[in-house]
Amino acid sequence: LFIAFEGGEGSGKTTQSRMVAIWLRDQGYDVVQTREPGSTKVGMRLRAILLDAAEKGLSARSEALLYAADRAEHVEKVIRPALHRGAVVVTDRYVDSSLAYQGAGRALDPEDVSKVNAWATGGLVPHLTVLIDTPPEIGLRRLGGAADRIESEPVEFHERVRKEFRALAAAAPERYLVVDGTLGLDEITRVVQDRVREILPD
Ligand code: C5P
Ligand code: MG
Repeated sequence: LFIAFEGGEGSGKTTQSRMVAIWLRDQGYDVVQTREPGSTKVGMRLRAILLDAAEKGLSARSEALLYAADRAEHVEKVIRPALHRGAVVVTDRYVDSSLAYQGAGRALDPEDVSKVNAWATGGLVPHLTVLIDTPPEIGLRRLGGAADRIESEPVEFHERVRKEFRALAAAAPERYLVVDGTLGLDEITRVVQDRVREILPD
């Protein structure tokens, strides 16, 4: 079972993916909790380049390819092996982040970003994507200036990102859970558990 968490900065993806991983482990599931970018040896170096370059104006295509390279490594070295042995994989960000940030945010052709990522992942799609939908002002305020993109991008960038995440979810509702990110942490956790329970293997 492969579950992805998506959403803008300060939406609570990291917290909620940790909560669902703990909850699943308590029930005896083998769980691999992971994140992008930066969950492999090479990925950690790519993360450093990407987060640093976001400040310095890396070209949009290079950025998209480096995120895709990180993801290819992540899928091949971490996600597929875990799924293969029957583990539940919970990732903090996946392909939708590239469609939202590099596609909509950086205004690359969404078809191109989609194709590059389908190739990078060998077509691996999550069984469920939890979109924690949060207005950018709220997410950015929560982070209090600590997000990597806050200083480098205007709020309109984050609005485009949010819109794209929502459009992706609306296009395939059976594979998505959209949660209102302004709800309390515990309430979000409960909504996520209710949905995950429906798709758990025995
Ligand atoms: O998930 P996290 O908030 O740690 O992501 C780190 C940064 O990378 C964020 O500022 C996010 O905007 C950026 N990012 C991106 N494109 C992606 C994934 C993350 O610009 N595909
Ligand atoms: Mg996070």
